[in-house]
Amino acid sequence: MKLAISAMEGHINAEVDPRFGRAAFFLIVDTDTMAVQAIRNPNLEALLGAGIQSAELVAREGAEVVLTGECGVYAFDALSRLGVKVVTGVTGRVADAVRAFTKGNSSFASEPNVACPPTCSAADCSACQSAPAPSGKDEGATEADAVSAPEDLERLIRRITEEVLKRLGQPGARTIPEAETQEKITVPSKKKLHPGLILAIVSGKGGTGKTTVAVSLALSLKEPVNFLDCDVEEPNAHLFLLPRYTDTRMVPVSVPVFDLNRCDYCGQCADFCRFNAIAVANGKLVFFEELCRSCEGCFRVCPKDAISEGEREVGRIKVGETGALRFYGGELHVGEQAVGPIIRQLKTIQDGKEINILDCAPGVGPAVLSSVWDADFCLLVTEPTPFGLNDLKLSAKALEMLGVPFGVIINRDGIGDDEVERFCDDNEIPVLLKISHDPEIARGYARGIPLVRQDMKWIPIFQRLWEAVQERCV
Ligand code: SF4
Ligand code: SF4
Repeated sequence: MKLAISAMEGHINAEVDPRFGRAAFFLIVDTDTMAVQAIRNPNLEALLGAGIQSAELVAREGAEVVLTGECGVYAFDALSRLGVKVVTGVTGRVADAVRAFTKGNSSFASEPNVACPPTCSAADCSACQSAPAPSGKDEGATEADAVSAPEDLERLIRRITEEVLKRLGQPGARTIPEAETQEKITVPSKKKLHPGLILAIVSGKGGTGKTTVAVSLALSLKEPVNFLDCDVEEPNAHLFLLPRYTDTRMVPVSVPVFDLNRCDYCGQCADFCRFNAIAVANGKLVFFEELCRSCEGCFRVCPKDAISEGEREVGRIKVGETGALRFYGGELHVGEQAVGPIIRQLKTIQDGKEINILDCAPGVGPAVLSSVWDADFCLLVTEPTPFGLNDLKLSAKALEMLGVPFGVIINRDGIGDDEVERFCDDNEIPVLLKISHDPEIARGYARGIPLVRQDMKWIPIFQRLWEAVQERCV
């Protein structure tokens, strides 16, 4: 019988590595001959699915049992489905662990003994970041203008996200090197591109009043409005707009369907999948749907034509009405991560002649950039605090790089300092509206009452804001 033991080093006296998927080495020990083969784990730095790939590796080496410290959900599932038993909680030297097993002093685990960390979203994954940038850009055009296909857009968004974070620091870190923060921002100027107008409402972080502004502006306009809730992970605009729903549209993504009668278990699909969603070993094929990013690559590499295209629903778009306002609310299903397909489907709606108001996700991640890249104008909602300023800089830089013109709205004016205004002055960023700090507004928000319904005085204020937007993008 062959054992696979996770080890810190490549010899029999090494310590057992407590990690399975990211163990430094696997020692394959033949208990009949006590021959030892050391394999350096190639999955140590894997971004996703290290446990699944390590399971496939040891199964391909013929191991029937794994001895390790900790085994996560995916690795345990993959090992079980590939016919490999697992002993967890193993510590000490590899030689002692093997001896204990051969003496019958080990028992097989019936379940994983450690929870898996949440998997990355596809857009966060850097596995394909070496792909070439979009080409064919005209001189003077923004990079966003050169985007012609969804793949180009995804690459562009990844690059801009990385660039922004590199220049201005990670938002989570809350520290920005002084020299980098002094970089000037130039507000792009671009003529209106669309027959109607696409206006995106964004904020560097959640809780700054982005939805308050989006909803109040939409309700203040006399013209027909398409309201798109693009904050698909945490949609909440419907709580204020209370639309009467008329339709629900499913958002599917493609997933592989395996025909095991055709499959010869060559493993080419598993080798191709950079998200480690497939494992092939021991005449078995294991597919982890949750890790699949619908790249469709495995469909193409299969030499036996054993993979066809299936569908998986990742979210939906709820369609409704509130007076003359048409509401489209994207919703990601619980446990799913495929934000992009929902936003892409939402954005097909905005091509009409009406005004389109997009309530975007907070931050400057791919979900936001996918929403705003072709907007005619962006309203950046912030608050006058150091965190607000930090997040405003990140958002402003991203919009500058996308070539989308923007202005700022300062919410809760009066709670902090004047650094946001100073930043806007220094960079000639227009501050189009200030909303004073008022606990009444917060109380109304908590009860789901839009600002313009709390007090009619806000309607002309938002109408003037709309005029200011139009002046800047027509
Ligand atoms: S590439 Fe095709 S034949 Fe090979 S293991 Fe995958 S599904 Fe089977
Ligand atoms: S479509 Fe195939 S190759 Fe692409 S992520 Fe899904 S399983 Fe992996």
